[in-house]
Amino acid sequence: MRLEKAKLIANDLMTYFGLSRLGWRFQFDRAVWRLGVCKYQNKIISISEKLTDINTEDEVLDTILHEIAHAMVGKGIGHGPSWKNMAVEIGCSGKRIASAGHVAIPKKWVLFDTQRNQYTGVKRNRRFSIRYGRYEWRLNDSEGRMS
Ligand SMILES: [Zn+2]
Repeated sequence: MRLEKAKLIANDLMTYFGLSRLGWRFQFDRAVWRLGVCKYQNKIISISEKLTDINTEDEVLDTILHEIAHAMVGKGIGHGPSWKNMAVEIGCSGKRIASAGHVAIPKKWVLFDTQRNQYTGVKRNRRFSIRYGRYEWRLNDSEGRMS
């Protein structure tokens, strides 16, 4: 999805749902292990620039709504019923958590299993299910070599 478009829509949605006037702001970040995050303390909804760039509009918009729902129900709610009800009400699928979503990653990033301490061997440039905490993305510096 184009970054400018994602930013425009995110800001529109945050205004529409009353977050902007409460001091919430939207920003991009450099994360590659998750698409979106809601930072309650700083009132920031942030999404990965890299992953926005290579994911579909559906995926990115669902993530923005996912994070907006977090901001609206408040800290400490997690992905329980309150969050889910809000997510669905504002148009999010509410079916998955953003950090464990199916997102496309750039070719040069590979998935590392920190529990087994090895690369998972999954094919690059396909869609993965990322489980934050156990897996992390690592840079593949050249063909066949991982660092
Ligand atoms: Zn979430």
